Amino acid sequence: MGKKQVKVKYCLLGYGYASLIAYHKLLKNNDHDDILILRDERVDPIFTIDHDGVSFSPLPIFPVQESELYQSDLFEGVPEQNPITVSFSDLANFDPDLQAVKKGSLADFMIEKQGVDRNLCLGLKQWGPTMLHRSFSQVQSKINRHYISNKGNTRVGYINGKSLFKYAVEHLRPEVLNFSDLQRIDVEQREVHTDGHTVAYEHLISTIPLHHLLGHCGLPQDHDHESAAAYFKFFTYTEGFEENKIIYDCDLNSEILRLFSVSDSLLMAQIRGDVYGQTTTEKIQARVQELIPEIKDLQFARELFSPMGYPLELVEAPQSVQSLETLKAHGVIPFGRFGNWEYSDLHELDWTSII
Ligand SMILES: Cc1cc2nc3c(=O)[nH]c(=O)nc-3n(C[C@H](O)[C@H](O)[C@H](O)COP(=O)(O)OP(=O)(O)OC[C@H]3O[C@@H](n4cnc5c(N)ncnc54)[C@H](O)[C@@H]3O)c2cc1C
Repeated sequence: MGKKQVKVKYCLLGYGYASLIAYHKLLKNNDHDDILILRDERVDPIFTIDHDGVSFSPLPIFPVQESELYQSDLFEGVPEQNPITVSFSDLANFDPDLQAVKKGSLADFMIEKQGVDRNLCLGLKQWGPTMLHRSFSQVQSKINRHYISNKGNTRVGYINGKSLFKYAVEHLRPEVLNFSDLQRIDVEQREVHTDGHTVAYEHLISTIPLHHLLGHCGLPQDHDHESAAAYFKFFTYTEGFEENKIIYDCDLNSEILRLFSVSDSLLMAQIRGDVYGQTTTEKIQARVQELIPEIKDLQFARELFSPMGYPLELVEAPQSVQSLETLKAHGVIPFGRFGNWEYSDLHELDWTSII
């Protein structure tokens, strides 16, 4: 049987937050029928986790109050929440080997900007000792934008265990076409070929990881697409830690990066991605209890491991840069944290580039 033919003005490849918000933005100047989302039916990146009757969504975590995105009509009708409260545990077991720091490395950059402080300790935990000699240029760029710029970075917390982003996209009803196999993208003809359909588009906005996109398009690439993982363990409790708090764990020997209270009875511990499969829940639980001595009836709920959490290096290699030009010339826009391979949060994306 032949494939079904579909023709649209905008095809959004990938069904994550970037695609859903792009859909909302495009609706301003286009009809619902002009926009189609292509979704891989085998993956659900809108993480929703059910535990004991509570449905919550850990990522993306917090919108930024000062951002245009949060102030936009996307968040109309979304419940109000207060900014999160942030605290830090005491700096402990932190004695970095400064002789090992290489010029241009992430560690070198952080020491120059912020000194040898708890940020460096948290950096070493999150990015590992390779940050002493590798640049991790995406992380440097993120630190410049987020923590050193003075644009305002007030993060708004969860409500009923859901990130406000989840509320914002819940009411959207985009046209979605599922596929189980993305066979190829014909950049010249402007067509996406899946197992069931040929989708002809005028503009293709792709949020699938850039190296996969280039592969599907048959375009050369030579950029470094190594990424760091994101790893979480969730715990329930009865009292002792209120909603809307974050504690950064500044003990270099602890595997916990930070704790978030998702609700008054559920917290998530973000753990070093590199200890996945090598740590124990007991160890993490004991450290949570140490960080919050007043917490009661702490119990492990479940874990979540996302191997691709943070892009590490900027896309600067010549073949990939050339391929990006080719995509642009043919109406293909790589978009989002993985789509455009940039360590960005949703409010930082250049939404004007897709309209
Ligand atoms: C620990 C952590 C904390 C974060 N905190 C925040 C925060 O506070 N605020 C914020 O704004 N952001 C935050 N983020 C970032 C945010 O989670 C991401 O920017 C956002 O979820 C990415 O959405 P996306 O739509 O670009 O990508 P995704 O959600 O990954 O969607 C991409 C789509 O592509 C599909 N896909 C992938 N590979 C293929 C393939 N080979 N073929 C076909 N389809 C494919 C996927 O199935 C999916 O549909 C955080 C991220 C992490 C890891």
